[in-house]
Amino acid sequence: MSGWVVIAGLGPGDAALVTPEVRDALAEATDVVGYIPYVRRVTPRPGLTLHESDNRVEVERATHALEMAAEGKRVVVVSSGDPGVFAMASALFEALEAGPEVWLSLEIRVLPGITAMLAAAARLGAPLGHDFCAINLSDNLKPWSLIEHRLRLAAQAGFAMAFYNPRSASRPHQFGEALEILRAECGPDCLISFARNVSKDDETLTTVTLGDATPDMADMRTVVIVGNADTRRVGPHVYTPRRAE
Ligand code: SAH
Repeated sequence: MSGWVVIAGLGPGDAALVTPEVRDALAEATDVVGYIPYVRRVTPRPGLTLHESDNRVEVERATHALEMAAEGKRVVVVSSGDPGVFAMASALFEALEAGPEVWLSLEIRVLPGITAMLAAAARLGAPLGHDFCAINLSDNLKPWSLIEHRLRLAAQAGFAMAFYNPRSASRPHQFGEALEILRAECGPDCLISFARNVSKDDETLTTVTLGDATPDMADMRTVVIVGNADTRRVGPHVYTPRRAE
């Protein structure tokens, strides 16, 4: 049998949120490649080799996957959530573009997964029920000035927003700056939700106003959802109406 590469999303954490399509690909694989905690979510079995790698080596990891597929292996590259959302699918195509032309004839498929913001939004209610955007707050691959620019314009445009990678130990101050921009553009009454470890045993959901939000409410296991001016509470739920004036 000839080799292939599947780039698969494992969802936010709960095994029930892995799609049957992804399960089938894992059942057929000879090799699984990915960041350590994601590879550890795959059940070992005879005939399956697990390749764990560090977080910041995405293109090398993707190149390794393509090399193995070219040797005839059936390779699944795993990401959490959806592989196209701040994850491995783009890295794989970047490696493909830089690689030998023969790789272009390999079978490559991207299998979607439930991304963190949609899992979090479902738990909260429907905060992303009107127009929204997703922004990665990490400045590993882009300057912080660009992130600030996009935040400001998205807030001015009235988008609800989902923030990935909101606050890490290596850049503790930037999320505070992001909150300042949001308070200035959206006002203190706008709702902000912090969804941590969604769908895992230690999941927590906290919704406050921007006026009461503090930077320590977010970490790298949190996806942050900021509502638009119409986002409101109904009982324990948070939702954004579908209509806007
Ligand atoms: N491809 C992933 C995102 C990878 S970036 C996806 O589609 O979900 C990693 C960021 O995703 C984390 O810093 C956090 O902001 C978010 N994240 C991933 N899983 C999460 C979960 N179970 N609960 C809350 N946030 C999560």
